[in-house]
Amino acid sequence: MSFIQFQNVTKYYNRAVVPAVDHLNLEISKGEIITLLGPSGCGKTTTLRMLAGFEQPTAGEIRIGDEVVYDDRRSLPPEKRGIGMVFQDYALFPHLTIEKNVMFGLNKWKARDKKKRVQEVLELVGLGDFGQRLPSELSGGQQQRVALARALAPNPKVILMDEPFSNLDAGLREKMRFDVTNILRKANATAIIVTHDQKDAFTVSDRVVVMNEGVIQQIAAPKEIYRCPVNCFVAQFVGKTNLISGTLCPDLKHVETHFGRVCVPQQTNQESENVVVSIRPEGCRLAEYGRYAGIVEQATYSGEYQELHVRLQSDHTPNQPMVIYAPIEQDIEIGSAVTFNITPELVALVN
Ligand code: ATP
Repeated sequence: MSFIQFQNVTKYYNRAVVPAVDHLNLEISKGEIITLLGPSGCGKTTTLRMLAGFEQPTAGEIRIGDEVVYDDRRSLPPEKRGIGMVFQDYALFPHLTIEKNVMFGLNKWKARDKKKRVQEVLELVGLGDFGQRLPSELSGGQQQRVALARALAPNPKVILMDEPFSNLDAGLREKMRFDVTNILRKANATAIIVTHDQKDAFTVSDRVVVMNEGVIQQIAAPKEIYRCPVNCFVAQFVGKTNLISGTLCPDLKHVETHFGRVCVPQQTNQESENVVVSIRPEGCRLAEYGRYAGIVEQATYSGEYQELHVRLQSDHTPNQPMVIYAPIEQDIEIGSAVTFNITPELVALVN
């Protein structure tokens, strides 16, 4: 049974000819952490704001728990929806102590309960001893944990976070992904996080909703999104890939491409024999006597692997060279001939 439900939700802003969000259908379970992932302008924030009640849909229905919070007859005001919001810049009151910041959302609580709850959530986020400090006396990561504590304090039905990691530098960002997920799990919170960063989405969420131009492209667990993208957009937006056109073989398990036959693992109900396959760079493994052959045109180090651009030997067309990840310890010279195999689990049909 879903806890949050969007049914055919569409949003046109004033005078816009294309919708910001187009017939969005999404069901979220209690305790689930979901990310909305997509490029700038794809409708992530609009979706979040419609759930919070800050924006009115043009059509559709939204439920939270067993309550309809929006349909064509009613729109519950934001403060009655049981939402805890964490803003990108944290929105802490600079002149109030951490304790008072967290207490802010508890104005209807009894004084004694308030104090106890504030201490409870500050301990949950690992800041039990920081109640008397001002926000300016905390690091960026600590401020974010205060913002999360404040959102969690009134026991909301759902926590919404808009680009929560974008103000943090790379090292802290990694730590906060881990901390935020841990805190949300400990609080047994249902959460929706908006991000345009694939790594944020993959590390924090149970399921990822990939959006483009207001339309949901795919909803699945991170591993499935990566290994079985449903279309070219998802394949390219989520990590690097090689998109190669070919002909589906009658056994429906192989695709004939310009450089040879490639095995595709998943079942397909493809009707046309003209297909596109996505082959992940790490799915191409260099081997002494590999099945496919090419010449290395370019090699760049990322620290974790080397990215090779390999011109396939059969490649007489002006295609992009194949991108292959190779281990960093391997010495590879530009212009050298290499052969490789392709791991079927990292190949997907994408049209
Ligand atoms: P970003 O990652 O840049 O925040 P997003 O995926 O969250 O983008 P939205 O902010 O939801 O995207 O915007 C979706 C579309 O709606 C965009 O085309 C945007 O220009 C438009 N839009 C957003 N807010 C308004 C508004 N208040 N008035 C008019 N158009 C808007």
